[in-house]
Amino acid sequence: MTFMVQNYHGYESNILFFDQSFISRCPIFGKLSKKNIRMASLVDQGIELPLMEAFYTLQGEGYHKGGAAYFIRIGGCDVGCHWCDVKESWDPKLHPATAIDKIISNAKDYSDTVVVTGGEPLMWDMQPLTAGLKDKSMNVHIETSGAYPVSGIWDWFCLSPKKNKLPLEAAYLRADELKVIVHNKDDFRFAEEQAELVSAECKLYLQPEWSNRDKMIPMMVDYVMKYPKWKVSLQTHKYLNIP
Ligand code: SF4
Repeated sequence: MTFMVQNYHGYESNILFFDQSFISRCPIFGKLSKKNIRMASLVDQGIELPLMEAFYTLQGEGYHKGGAAYFIRIGGCDVGCHWCDVKESWDPKLHPATAIDKIISNAKDYSDTVVVTGGEPLMWDMQPLTAGLKDKSMNVHIETSGAYPVSGIWDWFCLSPKKNKLPLEAAYLRADELKVIVHNKDDFRFAEEQAELVSAECKLYLQPEWSNRDKMIPMMVDYVMKYPKWKVSLQTHKYLNIP
């Protein structure tokens, strides 16, 4: 017997978790509507993930820029940045629940370095996916807003905080790299505020928001010369015309 269930994020899955003997013994099961049946689905367990796309390319941004990596883009994000360049990732229901075993074996065919991005990958339990990737001896990186609980095993944790849904404390503590997107002047103030919350070893980057880059890059260059703890990160993949 299969039920369409809806998880915390509204993602629907065809999942069977109750066998017939459980159903016959359960006094309230028949009274529950589908929407009230909130049970752990394969997606909630991280055994399947809403996969938007996966591709082999170069990391364009931040500390690892220029290195080849296999990108796994997970659907789902409710952070709502108005300048987001992957808005099609926001609705997880648009992206097929995909078995992590398949994601992992595809990744291994291309690269030893994987970047998990989104969307917001930490909306989902990343433990099973990252454990599977680590079993294959892969380097596993994440790009996250940090707005959801940290799960998973990460060799590199890139935190890109957003003003409208701030990171949780665990994300600041875990960050290897802080990448603040600069869309306007106030983002320099925000960047300093965020830098106070990460470890002393965390690498600090300012990255111009793509649509406003011509205006912001000169300001960023001046800012980094004045405050050299920061470095500039550019979306080099967009200059290279690669994904
Ligand atoms: Fe887009 Fe990332 Fe902001 Fe989500 S957190 S809205 S994916 S830029």
